[in-house]
Amino acid sequence: MSQHTLLPLVGAETTVPLTVPRDGASSIGYANLDYAASAPALAAVADAVARALPLYASVHRGAGYLSQVSTALYEQARTAVGRFVGARADDVVVITRNTTDSLNLLGGCVPGRVLVLDIEHHANLLPWQRRGADVLAARASVAETVTALREALTAGDYALVAITGASNVTGESLPVAEVVAAAHEAGTRVVVDAAQLAPHRLFSLQATGADYVAVSGHKLYAPYGAGALIGRRDWLDVGTPYLAGGGAVTNVAVEETVWEPAPQRHEAGSPNVIGAIALGVACTQLEAVAARLAQHDAALRARLIDGLEGIEGVQVLRLWADSAEPTAVVSFSLPGHDAGLVAAYLSAEHGIGVRDGRFCAHPLLAARGLEAGLRASIGLGTTSEHVDRLIAGIEQYLTTGS
Ligand code: PLP
Repeated sequence: MSQHTLLPLVGAETTVPLTVPRDGASSIGYANLDYAASAPALAAVADAVARALPLYASVHRGAGYLSQVSTALYEQARTAVGRFVGARADDVVVITRNTTDSLNLLGGCVPGRVLVLDIEHHANLLPWQRRGADVLAARASVAETVTALREALTAGDYALVAITGASNVTGESLPVAEVVAAAHEAGTRVVVDAAQLAPHRLFSLQATGADYVAVSGHKLYAPYGAGALIGRRDWLDVGTPYLAGGGAVTNVAVEETVWEPAPQRHEAGSPNVIGAIALGVACTQLEAVAARLAQHDAALRARLIDGLEGIEGVQVLRLWADSAEPTAVVSFSLPGHDAGLVAAYLSAEHGIGVRDGRFCAHPLLAARGLEAGLRASIGLGTTSEHVDRLIAGIEQYLTTGS
């Protein structure tokens, strides 16, 4: 392990400033191991928001100077998000509220049946379940799961298959390009829920061939309220407008309304300009450090898993043994112990923040006989000391019984 992978990326020398001002990791000794829930804003993001705050004005509506500036910044953000996910020249970037919003929006535009796995976050399950999707059980290995997907795609007549880029429970992933190839062979499109992948690894629509991808700003080191759906234009150009209102229409008459094509069609109302600017800056920052971030992530995931597996009485949750390059999101359980109590103990006694519960992935946990678990997730501000502190905290909990 090289030395820099054991240090936090925060404040490390880099071409872009990576300070995480609100993380508090170093100032109060708090070990934030819950980046998968939300990641604190990068300094460059906070700066961009502060600079934009005095300037914001209605976009695409006014000829005034501030409207022009806001419109330019909003559209620059759209371009940055598209670049971040390797969008094709003719893909559309719709600015949404978050991944949940993006997938629900797409759900209103899919012209046929949907296939989804049972391991998904509810955001990538319920929008499809609601429209009667077929839900396929993940198999015991990545290879078997891909085969099951291929068989289902060949046998069924699906317009879309929805897969995760990286599990929010285990950090594991399917080989997206392989699933895309199988789906396209069957005439099916693919949407990738990259809420948990994009904060850890560069994802590319062009490289994988995936048709759509959804991301959330607050998991990408930007504040809440902005996300994106990026992908093929045709469905989005004709799909039912997600929201009805101003800005989404070409002409309104009492008898008939003519809707704009995407993205305006799906961005009715005054958009979240500040959120979009923050998201765009976060994407640009992450793009610049992606290779180092992947190294940091892999080193700390290995340290975390080694530590957890070294403790008798801890079970690390894995979907498969053959997932390539899982992200640093690790769930585990202490059989016989209440996950909520363990999480509260870690917070109160050791200053560690982890997630406990069912991770908005109830079918995944139920299929593995788990009522609840604990999840540690790593980000730019995580240090090896944070990981070691978690391991020591759990050991202490199990030995002292409190
Ligand atoms: N998909 C995955 C894999 C997630 O982990 C999450 C949030 O935890 C979501 C979707 C939903 O994200 P949001 O709450 O930002 O819509």
